[in-house]
Amino acid sequence: MPENIGLIPLVDLARQHEALLDEIQAVTRDILEKGAFIGGPHVEAFEREWAGYCGTSEAIGVCSGTDALRFALLACGVRPGDEVITPPHTFVATWEAIVQSGARPVPADVDPETCNLDPAQIERRITVRTRAILPVHLYGRPACMDAICDIAATHGLAVIEDAAQAHGASSRGRKTGSLGRAGSFSFYPSKNLGACGEAGAVTTDNADVARTVRMLRDHGQEEKNLHEIGGYNGRLDAIQAAILRIKLRRLDAWNLRRRALAALYSECLAGIPGLALPSDDADATQVYHLYVVQTFKRDELRESLRQNGIATGLHYPLPVHLQKAFRFLGYKTGDFPVSERMASEVLSLPLYPELEAEKVEFICEMARSFLLK
Ligand SMILES: *Cc1c(COP(=O)(O)O)cnc(C)c1O
Repeated sequence: MPENIGLIPLVDLARQHEALLDEIQAVTRDILEKGAFIGGPHVEAFEREWAGYCGTSEAIGVCSGTDALRFALLACGVRPGDEVITPPHTFVATWEAIVQSGARPVPADVDPETCNLDPAQIERRITVRTRAILPVHLYGRPACMDAICDIAATHGLAVIEDAAQAHGASSRGRKTGSLGRAGSFSFYPSKNLGACGEAGAVTTDNADVARTVRMLRDHGQEEKNLHEIGGYNGRLDAIQAAILRIKLRRLDAWNLRRRALAALYSECLAGIPGLALPSDDADATQVYHLYVVQTFKRDELRESLRQNGIATGLHYPLPVHLQKAFRFLGYKTGDFPVSERMASEVLSLPLYPELEAEKVEFICEMARSFLLK
């Protein structure tokens, strides 16, 4: 490994916080002095700012992206016995939330080029029990929302977006989170917009959905001590909201930098046989939560990069329908072949706004020399 390059992590949150330390300390001190930790002015301000950013009338801060998904499903009327169509190639939380709402996840396979729900796979999965479609904007690329929303409209289904990896991405100029009946976001620290702890949000233009999510996150109460529905403890705390407000002002610049680094990766990795790169999407602006390549030599490439001091990630190495926790649904190997192949071929390369271009070039050089040797 060249001296001047050093170890390259997959993400580097310390670098991000170095630049924000003074601002974060000042606002944290203010909250500690005032002693208002749950809800309050920072939470309300962040909700207004996040709704404004996403182009929705409402945003509701919650405790995590998983809570956001669960509350969005429940608020859109998903109930025990219902079915929700969703991809198997996603983070496990997408399915957990469906099961926790009482519904059954019904997988539809993904398109290997978009890495997202393949609209051509959806209609054959629709039954009388289907209540909603839950697409995931995986890796920061918007799912094919026009086609998905058309199918949903034809069959009277709700569309709930899992936008946990797509803060600021857009489809035909409209931001993710504003494309369905409700959108759910995670602000897990490593996301494009990340808190310094757990946090999430639901976005929606629907006043009833918003009102129900507000009750669900706060023990089912709208007015103190009057519990209208069964709820949860799923609120956003003030320190996280204040930190998210500081970071939201940088989100567009960070996303631009991610896009520039992704373009550099794609330029430097072009033309290697057997290596598939993320493709462009003329209708969408992607925000590259991850830069994910696909190759059947995935494990060997990963090991070779590791030996050169380069960390990589697997998102995700086992599709959700084959996870032990979901065996009760009865799916088996071979049921969703595209998702299963992707699980064995995807490799996430280091990507964060502070990453230097020369490191991207070095990573590409190492990948190229391994794959062409
Ligand atoms: C991160 C993530 C979630 C869950 O978010 P948490 O805040 O960790 O609960 C859900 N779906 C996807 C696709 C994610 O990447």
